[in-house]
Amino acid sequence: MAEEDLRVAVVGAGIGGLAAATALHRTGVRVEVFEQAPALREVGAGLHLAPNGSRLLHRFGLADRLRAIAVRPEALEVRLFNGAKVLTRQPMGDSWEAEFGAPHYTVHRAHLHALLAEQVPAGAIRTGRRLVGFTEAADGVRLEFADGTAARADLLVGADGVHSVVRRALGHPDEPVFSGTAAVRGVVPAGLVPEVAPDTMYVWAGAELRLMAQPVDGGRQISFVAVLPDTGGSAESWSRPGDRGALLDAFAGWDPAATALLAAATETWHWTLYDREPLPGWSTPRTTLLGDAAHPMLPHHGQGASQAIEDAVALAAVLADRAPGPEGLAEALQRYERLRLDHTSRVRAGSLAGGSQRLAPPAGGPGGPGGSGGSGGPGGPDRPGGAGGASGPGGAGGAMSALVADVSWVQKYDVAAELAALPTGR
Ligand code: FAD
Repeated sequence: MAEEDLRVAVVGAGIGGLAAATALHRTGVRVEVFEQAPALREVGAGLHLAPNGSRLLHRFGLADRLRAIAVRPEALEVRLFNGAKVLTRQPMGDSWEAEFGAPHYTVHRAHLHALLAEQVPAGAIRTGRRLVGFTEAADGVRLEFADGTAARADLLVGADGVHSVVRRALGHPDEPVFSGTAAVRGVVPAGLVPEVAPDTMYVWAGAELRLMAQPVDGGRQISFVAVLPDTGGSAESWSRPGDRGALLDAFAGWDPAATALLAAATETWHWTLYDREPLPGWSTPRTTLLGDAAHPMLPHHGQGASQAIEDAVALAAVLADRAPGPEGLAEALQRYERLRLDHTSRVRAGSLAGGSQRLAPPAGGPGGPGGSGGSGGPGGPDRPGGAGGASGPGGAGGAMSALVADVSWVQKYDVAAELAALPTGR
């Protein structure tokens, strides 16, 4: 198979599928993307595009476009839940860019999604095509869609997200492990919350609850994620509406800047948080997985999009460097999987270990032992009347250094350097 002869079908036009289509197209591969949604449209709230992801998009020539749609925050500020104290403030901006070799952006998912969709040739994205099954044979893969249509390709890439049909068809049952928490997201116009600086990321830290805010859309909007205890039992869905009244109740008495932010949201989305063990493997000779389909992870490291973009670059590179014939294709998929499985498993373990959850004020601080028990009821450290933990030794200030140290190896990672160190596939 010459490069231009390889036909790749990518299932799912999320950030991962579109990044894969972009990377493959740039190496001359013929790629078609099949998306179940009837149209590509604005969905989601803010996400982090960490330096390990942004450096790859810059290499696609998208630096100017990213600067226009995203924000490169100047600082990360951690406040006690009630705003009584700034526990720590970490400069970002130039210093992070110098340290990690690329900017850390905060961006509305819909804007990043639209930017990637523009990089894929017109007509290569087929919407309204929900994959329901596929058959892999020695000479290719046949894809079947819910509308009764079918397609053929040399390679199938399942970029169909956390509930991946392709992953299940490869024999991996979905075994979500409930985290006990949910993330409630929203986006508000920055003009409605002048208390929240549009160049700063915030964490408000309570013992049971946390609120994170990040500027998006060039600072014109502020996106927030509240992490709070949940009873579980609901499937993960990006379109499930949040309960705004319950959200406001849960955060009553917090920092006025935080409550103003939540009150300004007219719409919220509720995503119950589940973890999943890493897969033992995810490729056959003509099928592989990418992004959340391959390695779903909790969002506490803010790495979902960046890991999917790394996958995309890695997959395109191993395919471009493969030996001829079906054996060369199968071997390239194994190289991709080996490179990505170990790495993403470590990132997932870090996310599971806590991420921003560590920034909770220590239980047993001035709020009194046992203050973090229950659901943050009145008098507990998340509530007015509770004194709230402070940033003593090992408190949020120390936790911040540990968190930055934990995430920095992920953010410094350059998948292109790892690829360059691999022996060639030819
Ligand atoms: P996803 O982004 O989940 O994309 C998977 C795509 O596959 C979707 O477009 C889905 O419609 C499509 N698909 C699924 N099954 C099929 C099928 N059978 N046939 C065809 N197509 C299929 N992360 C955040 O941090 N903040 C957010 O606000 C946020 N909002 C999101 C909103 C939506 C609608 C989605 C789908 C994801 C959102 N995410 C958000 C998650 C984040 O985009 C991903 O974790 C990360 O970018 C990795 O992306 P992915 O491409 O692997 O998966």
